[in-house]
Amino acid sequence: MNIQQNIQLQPYNSFRTKARAKLFCEPESVEQLSEVLRSYPNEPKLVIGNGCNLFFTKDFDGLVIHPRMRGIRPVLDNDSIVELETGAGEEWDNFVNHCVEKGYAGIENLSLIPGTVGAAPIQNIGAYGTEVKDAIVRVHAVNKDTGDPETFPAEACEFGYRDSMFKRTRQYIVTSVVFRLSKSFAYTEKYADLNRELASVPHPSLKQVREAIIRIRRRKLPDPAELPNAGSFFKNPLLTMEEKERLLAKLPDAPIYPIGTGKFKTSAAFLIEKAGYKGKRNGPVGIYERHALIIVNYATENGNDIVDFMHEVQQAVDKKFGIRLEPEVRIY
Ligand SMILES: Cc1cc2nc3c(=O)[nH]c(=O)nc-3n(C[C@H](O)[C@H](O)[C@H](O)COP(=O)(O)OP(=O)(O)OC[C@H]3O[C@@H](n4cnc5c(N)ncnc54)[C@H](O)[C@@H]3O)c2cc1C
Repeated sequence: MNIQQNIQLQPYNSFRTKARAKLFCEPESVEQLSEVLRSYPNEPKLVIGNGCNLFFTKDFDGLVIHPRMRGIRPVLDNDSIVELETGAGEEWDNFVNHCVEKGYAGIENLSLIPGTVGAAPIQNIGAYGTEVKDAIVRVHAVNKDTGDPETFPAEACEFGYRDSMFKRTRQYIVTSVVFRLSKSFAYTEKYADLNRELASVPHPSLKQVREAIIRIRRRKLPDPAELPNAGSFFKNPLLTMEEKERLLAKLPDAPIYPIGTGKFKTSAAFLIEKAGYKGKRNGPVGIYERHALIIVNYATENGNDIVDFMHEVQQAVDKKFGIRLEPEVRIY
């Protein structure tokens, strides 16, 4: 396999920050990936998909791996369900579209999320009341240190809110994912924005749900091709009972969602807006005017400018509400 040297990573991250990779490769099969891992045992390794959830602040002195395994293959098919094994290098939204066209239900609410199939389990992508974990049966991956392939049933992936074992350990490179999808579909009301968009449609079909989500997302979110960004920059904070009470004392209208085990989730976008940052720009970086959770890059190629602005927002929210926002985006 071709190992390239001194590669510019700007086209490989949706914030379009500049950094160089000492070594860069694009394995198209599990065998190629295992071989390259075993050939470079001592190089630090970084996996990137479409770079829609990460950006660079410095050069990467090691091997950047851009998995290119392709294909969508049924591994089980009966009257009610189908299981599809999909290569890590497939575009996520092409896969969603494929499923919707075939009438396979389960991931339609995750329409138009940019990125690759291989990255979907890493942070357990989610939107409109759905998380990808609910459709994942197992994940095929290769161990970064040994190059050995391993299979992880969904339970072993330890999925959580924008989290998984893969994200925490960084030990595995996902090569394909097996999804279970249903051959029947009946729309259930899970998310207010989506219900509103579909209010005039009596029994929305799978395709109508996908189209509604695409319309909402196009209205609300900046297109990274026009305004570089990485989607939601911060995670929604999880609060203890005490933290929730403290927040409500300061912001009685703060949205609070109980998530069980005595914990609560609040909206990072709401806190950023209340701290006065929605639409605010500082030099080359700012918060998108239509969505307070999205940091946008107006004019920099230096990832440190984005980090500086991130700190500014974190400090403003912490000072006002005593809550520390954590980035969802990975910074390298
Ligand atoms: C406009 C916009 C909207 C977005 N909306 C949403 C949303 O609604 N919901 C949501 O959850 N996310 C959203 N995101 C974030 C992003 O789309 C997802 O996190 C997506 O899964 C990233 O895919 P990627 O291929 O670009 O991964 P990358 O950004 O390249 O990588 C993300 C992380 O996964 C690791 N990784 C990537 N591929 C692999 C692999 N094959 N094996 C192991 N590790 C890997 C990387 O090392 C990195 O840590 C949005 C982003 C943008 C720009």
